[in-house]
Amino acid sequence: MFAHRLICDSCGRSYPVDQPFNTCPHCGDLLETEYDLERLQAHLDWESIARRPNTLWKWREFFPINDPAHIVTLGEGGTPLVPSVIAGPALGIDLYFKNDSLMPTGSFKDRGFSLAVSKAKELGITKGLTYTSGNAGASFAAYTRRAGMQSVILVKHWTTPEKLVMIRSYGQEVVKLVYDSFGEVTALLDEAVAKVGLYQFVNFINPMRHEAMKSYAYEVTEQLGGAPDRMIHPVGTGGGIWGSYKGFTELKALGRIDRIPSMHGVQPSATPPIAEAFRRGDKVATPKGDSHASIAQSIVSDSPLKGGKRVLRAAYESGGTIEDVTDAEILRALQVLAAEGIFSEPAGAAPLAALWRLAERGELRRGERVVCVVTGTGLKQPEAWAELVSDDIQRIPCQFPALQTFLAEQWKEAK
Ligand SMILES: *Cc1c(COP(=O)(O)O)cnc(C)c1O
Ligand SMILES: [Zn+2]
Repeated sequence: MFAHRLICDSCGRSYPVDQPFNTCPHCGDLLETEYDLERLQAHLDWESIARRPNTLWKWREFFPINDPAHIVTLGEGGTPLVPSVIAGPALGIDLYFKNDSLMPTGSFKDRGFSLAVSKAKELGITKGLTYTSGNAGASFAAYTRRAGMQSVILVKHWTTPEKLVMIRSYGQEVVKLVYDSFGEVTALLDEAVAKVGLYQFVNFINPMRHEAMKSYAYEVTEQLGGAPDRMIHPVGTGGGIWGSYKGFTELKALGRIDRIPSMHGVQPSATPPIAEAFRRGDKVATPKGDSHASIAQSIVSDSPLKGGKRVLRAAYESGGTIEDVTDAEILRALQVLAAEGIFSEPAGAAPLAALWRLAERGELRRGERVVCVVTGTGLKQPEAWAELVSDDIQRIPCQFPALQTFLAEQWKEAK
């Protein structure tokens, strides 16, 4: 293992990586895994890595697991990087979609839970708790069940039936949490940690989940043969963008890439606290917005975890931005993604909507390479399409003349 310690974002105290920690026991801030990059550098054999199967665990040296026997995997990661044939050419750029809708439970959360549950198994943890708007719950339930761990999943009370049925299929405990602001949830979780010492799997509170998102950097760099100019991630807590940024930072330190892409995050306009803090140049965001007011359910967060500090750092340090986009823009992006062949949930289409914002402001250079991360499948939230596809489908008898008439009608303009 090349990880040598966990270090606190605020007070700088460090802790062993082979003991169960959530947040800093001294000051309560977030912990980050630190690696001995020199030793890692000396050990890595990039050619043999390139020959391994394309999953998250292709990059196992970059993760804090001691014994590969503890790895809990469903083949997550290694998703296709799909070149855009519509949106990219229209903007004159080289655009790609990192299609994580193909993950084992239909969202990018599987990267994080494969690592977090593996680490928990290695630490001897047998019970866990997480909060979810849906996707994290499905992923957590799947991986904990497979690992033989007991888990409790707190879901927001307006989670879609599609997400709920998937979570419940794995047979773990599910509870609906009734609240107004996401701040109430984080307060509840803080109290649970403090009073019962329960090991948590909430993003960032659990120091492992975002660590797995470093794999975006490794995969995209391998797929493109170099770093892209920009990465655009949807932001809920910010585990995706922060982990991806950390991965690029490591690749740069290891001399694999010569510059870090501009990291862009995107929130829904209904809950824009981090985007607004970015525009003000602030390092910490304050709660804002209404988390019932957007279709992008997986990223509506009015109260940024720890003030969105890490998300803001990723944007400032890399020359990126944090955008916010309306539901109308997200719906347009959903349709363009579908025209490209990708069925996304609204949160996963937000990066394309953010790209259009960058284009409108004239921030894109011709021919630059941009990656939008599509974080989840449209099957999790089909009602998002209610306004976009009508349900008045014509019915015809199962007879050739009827089909012939229908086709003649449909295709007459095309002739
Ligand atoms: C959880 C989720 C996000 C947000 O990820 P964070 O790491 O919390 O920023 C984005 N898209 C989808 C589909 C998600 O499930
Ligand atoms: Zn601390």
